[in-house]
Amino acid sequence: MLDFREPESVTRLRAQLRALIAEHIPHGFLGAFTPNAEDFALTEAFSRELGRRKLLAAAWPREYGGAGSDVWEQTAVREEMWAAHEPRGAQYMGVNWVGPAIMRHGTAQQQAQHLPAIAAGEVVWCQGFSEPGAGSDLPALRTRATKVDGGWSITGQKVWTSYARMAQWCFLLARTGPAGGRKSGITVFLMQMDQPGVQVRPIPAMLGEHHLNEVYLDNAWVPEDQVLGEVGAGWDIVSEVLGFERIGIARYARSERLLREAPRELGDRWPELPESLRERWAAALVRARQARLLAYRLVGEGAADLSPLSAAAYRIVVTTLDQEAADILMEMLGAQAVGATDHSSYFEREVEDHWRYSQSSTVASGTLEMNKQTIAKSLERE
Ligand SMILES: Cc1cc2nc3c(=O)[nH]c(=O)nc-3n(C[C@H](O)[C@H](O)[C@H](O)COP(=O)(O)OP(=O)(O)OC[C@H]3O[C@@H](n4cnc5c(N)ncnc54)[C@H](O)[C@@H]3O)c2cc1C
Repeated sequence: MLDFREPESVTRLRAQLRALIAEHIPHGFLGAFTPNAEDFALTEAFSRELGRRKLLAAAWPREYGGAGSDVWEQTAVREEMWAAHEPRGAQYMGVNWVGPAIMRHGTAQQQAQHLPAIAAGEVVWCQGFSEPGAGSDLPALRTRATKVDGGWSITGQKVWTSYARMAQWCFLLARTGPAGGRKSGITVFLMQMDQPGVQVRPIPAMLGEHHLNEVYLDNAWVPEDQVLGEVGAGWDIVSEVLGFERIGIARYARSERLLREAPRELGDRWPELPESLRERWAAALVRARQARLLAYRLVGEGAADLSPLSAAAYRIVVTTLDQEAADILMEMLGAQAVGATDHSSYFEREVEDHWRYSQSSTVASGTLEMNKQTIAKSLERE
């Protein structure tokens, strides 16, 4: 049976992380992707600071730049960061799933090149999966890689690529087998972004500046030694990666913090709120605790044993919690949060930001409907 009491080392680590955030991240911070370019720079510097202290990829083996600490310490890092608007910026992507995929499937040379850089917070990765016409139906992807002397030439288009403008590397899926070959014939490429064959165009969206992008590939170059795993065997890697990605963010931590802070932030207005709204608030807090316990169960079971069902169930629980919490908090704050400006209180701006971000959460990393289907199919097979 899993013991849910927190080890003392984890409690100490939380205190250390909160002190580091207080020292390096100014009050009022709302994440890396605001109109203020300094916010992104701040996250880069902070990630390097965590890297120096071996806290960015704490649970990774020491040889790859981690501290070899246990998964509960890494869980505390995830929770503390997400609760504080992710001051690691885009770095969590490398730590949560790009690194683990390279650890499991990479060559010794790829591991030596990429893993210490991720653990040190020196590199941003983006994920080149989705394409126009290949989102939920990812195996329909058409970006093609052609074998040329010494490597691969890649042509096609990716869309909704988070962080592509800041990223130095892309974890890219392309077709190496016959057109229409579905899951067979997909290969993972570790592609350098800074090259003439790669063009990035931002997509304006309510998630903040520079978040979403289109990536155009016109004979982009990937050398032979940056193919991850076997040519044509990319789908198995991707299936594993999507599981890591779905459980990689401790979303419940921000929802829970904002819900808990609401009574204090609302002050005199709190007792005047309709009883029914406060009941929904209490129910959401219970759901946040349930989401946390589900996360701990999955962490306890170990990443290697993570089933598609568990990953999909976790994703549904945390993303719908995000939306429920955001709706309740918006209703509590009313017009003050809906029209949050620079002059609004920090809490009002946090709630407004959380609401905007939560809207996309049931689409990103697999839609709500697709996650429900994954669960239905898994139960059917049992
Ligand atoms: C904030 C955000 C960040 C993202 N970041 C990245 C990234 O970094 N890299 C990347 O590669 N992609 C990224 N994506 C893309 C994301 O993975 C896709 O948007 C998602 O997989 C859905 O694909 P789609 O947009 O093509 O929608 P579609 O697949 O066209 O789906 C449209 C609607 O139809 C429903 N639907 C589709 N097929 C079925 C079915 N078989 N049964 C029932 N319903 C179905 C869907 O649930 C959805 O409601 C991001 C998306 C968002 C919102």
